[in-house]
Amino acid sequence: MEHLNDAHALGDDYANAPGTVQGDAPILPAYRVGSDTYVIWCTHCRRWHRHGAAMAGHRVAHCTTPRSPYSATGYVLEDAGPATDAILADMRRRKPRGVAR
Ligand SMILES: [Zn+2]
Repeated sequence: MEHLNDAHALGDDYANAPGTVQGDAPILPAYRVGSDTYVIWCTHCRRWHRHGAAMAGHRVAHCTTPRSPYSATGYVLEDAGPATDAILADMRRRKPRGVAR
């Protein structure tokens, strides 16, 4: 699998065509930012990962920690609506805290 060094890279990062998700890829809530970006909170990296195109579906993980199990499976973005003010504020923190679940 292609290794992504840039955790914040945007672009064509689909792991599979829609509807062909395999394995144990977890489903994560994805919040829209603007018109073309999704952000997901990664509990393994403790940071927000950004994904372009704002389309739900399976993606290659943007994890930077080698311990993240997402690196093997990717994850599935599930639309959770627009990012709230709290999420936008958290993304600006030097040490983000993520969303309350
Ligand atoms: Zn991660």
